[in-house]
Amino acid sequence: MTDKQPIYILPENTERTVGRDAQRNNILAAKLVGDSVKTTLGPKGMDKMLVDGVGDITVTNDGVTILEQMELEHPAAKMMVEIAKTQEKEVGDGTTTAVMLAGKLLENAEKLLDMKIHPTVITKGYNLASNKTKRFLEELSVSVDEQGDVLKFIAMTAMTGKGAEAVKEKFANIIVEAIRQIDEKEIDLENIKIVKNKSYGIEDTELIKGIIIDKGRVSMDMPLKIDEAKIALVSDALELKNPEGDAKISITAPEQLQDFVNREERLLKQIVEKIKFSGANVIFCQKGIADVVQYYLAKKGIYACRRVAKSDMEGLARATGGRIVSNLNELSEGELGKAQVVEEVKQGDESMTYVRGCENPKTLTILIHGGSEHVMDEMERALKDGLGDVVSVIKTKKIVAGAGAIEMELSKMLREFANSLSGREQLAVQEFANALEFIPLTLAENAGLDPIDVLTELKSRHDSGEKYAGINIFNNRIEDALHEGIIEPVKIKSQAISSATEVAIMILRIDDVLASKGNKSPVGNGMGYPGME
Ligand code: ADP
Ligand code: MG
Repeated sequence: MTDKQPIYILPENTERTVGRDAQRNNILAAKLVGDSVKTTLGPKGMDKMLVDGVGDITVTNDGVTILEQMELEHPAAKMMVEIAKTQEKEVGDGTTTAVMLAGKLLENAEKLLDMKIHPTVITKGYNLASNKTKRFLEELSVSVDEQGDVLKFIAMTAMTGKGAEAVKEKFANIIVEAIRQIDEKEIDLENIKIVKNKSYGIEDTELIKGIIIDKGRVSMDMPLKIDEAKIALVSDALELKNPEGDAKISITAPEQLQDFVNREERLLKQIVEKIKFSGANVIFCQKGIADVVQYYLAKKGIYACRRVAKSDMEGLARATGGRIVSNLNELSEGELGKAQVVEEVKQGDESMTYVRGCENPKTLTILIHGGSEHVMDEMERALKDGLGDVVSVIKTKKIVAGAGAIEMELSKMLREFANSLSGREQLAVQEFANALEFIPLTLAENAGLDPIDVLTELKSRHDSGEKYAGINIFNNRIEDALHEGIIEPVKIKSQAISSATEVAIMILRIDDVLASKGNKSPVGNGMGYPGME
């Protein structure tokens, strides 16, 4: 028994990091992710330019977009990206806040670890703090109805800093008008389609009742406009199928060739007959339409679009009450969708098809105009943030004061609660409170203000009972954010707190990382687990 033989329980190519090393490494990665989006927070946040492998550019201020495109490799960093995705899915806004909060919670936890406080004590404290914070959040939230300008201000706050500044009010009006048209109880954002058109400027962005397909009619001989449209939706090509394999046709006499051509033409004509027979005067086809078919469709006065995207076909089906058929033999009057008008409209050099007065009146389209793809993409993200926030307020009818006001008040309440605790958990709850202050601090920093001055002033205002005092970045003054209309749905904050805490705790509980060497190296230089290639 004297000869100590090492026992290997892991495959040879596994790299293992344990204890503080593993924690330090994970925390560092998470902190870096938090820091990477920090400068984009708030109205004066900067944008990021992301260039992907093939040189495509995205210019954005949107947390989740940035993180998704960064293609992070480090496992802890990936967990941070998940927070942003969850936040985006649940609320549609607040992604930067959620990720920053998680990063800060971990950074602060590191201080506690350095003080030899055990991770389980920290995670227990963080859990306690998170639950308390959510309860305080409920207490601090303000009930609203949808009358007045509440929804408009919610939309405007959501879009601040997204490059939509000049048209923020117009966009907010579009968002509110759009949402009001959809039935209150069953708001489904699927019903609001966003289409982009590179002509005019963003200020010309408009709300259209109906659906827009970014394709014109296939043939100039077709009518420009159809009233009382009966719409066929076909997923298959309106062409003759090529025979499988290499089929040979032997033709020995000229009349045989003529026969063959005639036969093809007859079959193609039959396609048009079937469409006409169903009663349709408009057809949207997901695939191609043969020239001959186009010719006969035009002759019969039918409006046709080809190569319509699958998502558009589905949107058309929802909007017009039609059913997508793959086989023309299935097409009958019952399958057709209905709309008052189908019309080709020229927008700049592009032709589009407007389908208005749909069977389902809740179908709406926001047509974004703009000079460049990059600008329009960012406008789309801004609109989606606004839409998500407005829907959230309609659902919960609860808002909170933005501009860092809510975080300051929560932090204050949490600190008071911490004082009632004894033992080391108290320290964890205090660090949680500190992490919340990171939001107003960063808002100030990003606006070029002295963060410490702002934080000190905010603290004293909250201590003297100004619950809604926040840093208004438009005039750089500390003001009542509620009164100034800087308001956000409560759900943004509760979701951000939940998911940030969850991930911070999960990362803190890891003290052993077993990585197969086959993995690629995580996050840049010096960030990898030792030995990971
Ligand atoms: P997120 O991805 O977390 O939504 P944003 O860049 O959209 O990040 O910034 C949101 C933050 O900006 C919120 O804390 C919000 O209260 C704040 N904010 C919005 N408008 C103002 C304003 N006028 N002054 C100060 N802060 C504002
Ligand atoms: Mg936002």
